[in-house]
Amino acid sequence: MINRKAFHSLSSGLYLITAKKEGRQCGCVVNTLVQVASEPPTLSVALNKENATTDTVRATGRFCATVLDQETPMELIGTFGFHSSVDTDKFAVCKVGADGSEVPYVVDHGLARFSVRVTETIDVGSHYLFVGVVEEADVLGDGDALTYAYYHAIKGGKTPPKAATYNGGDEAFSAPAPAASSESGAIDGEGAPKRVAWRCSICGYIEEGYPDGLPADYMCPICGAGPEMFERIEL
Ligand code: FE
Repeated sequence: MINRKAFHSLSSGLYLITAKKEGRQCGCVVNTLVQVASEPPTLSVALNKENATTDTVRATGRFCATVLDQETPMELIGTFGFHSSVDTDKFAVCKVGADGSEVPYVVDHGLARFSVRVTETIDVGSHYLFVGVVEEADVLGDGDALTYAYYHAIKGGKTPPKAATYNGGDEAFSAPAPAASSESGAIDGEGAPKRVAWRCSICGYIEEGYPDGLPADYMCPICGAGPEMFERIEL
């Protein structure tokens, strides 16, 4: 038997993987970047076969990785994690650098960046596992690394369907408590009235200002979901 909850105990970080082919930049969010050897310094990353970034890494044999910090806004994660590079210029929303091979990497909210030359590609079903030697590595900033647990528990983030750790929407972590619930909202019969808000069930984005419901043409600014994907919450 396979108890999917067993996978929830695996810990990981959150990273941006970027690549470039014939002038076209692409990137995605992963939690599958791992150092697998020290000499030569070697990383592996698993990327979904349906990602545009995956095709680019397969074609060029190179990728960059940015280690994200805890302050990374959901908008940046959403842009890289819930949109396709085919129809979205993900790099328009952030500061970008380029390594010695002209592969772009995200600078904003980066703690460190790596440039990897792929030496082996392994077909692992839904994903390709790319193994490669680190050709460049540098520190970009100070702070704490964004872990997947923090992303879920504190930021209210969700797992995109194409992630290696996607378990059919069976989230590994419970949603965060509404921010005001431990303060004024917790006082029975007193305090400020609760505010109605709407939470995207795809990416976790919270929208306020529509107490009577989201407009029919509303679109989630993070993942593009329609109003039917939002659930009513109180803050
Ligand atoms: Fe969303």
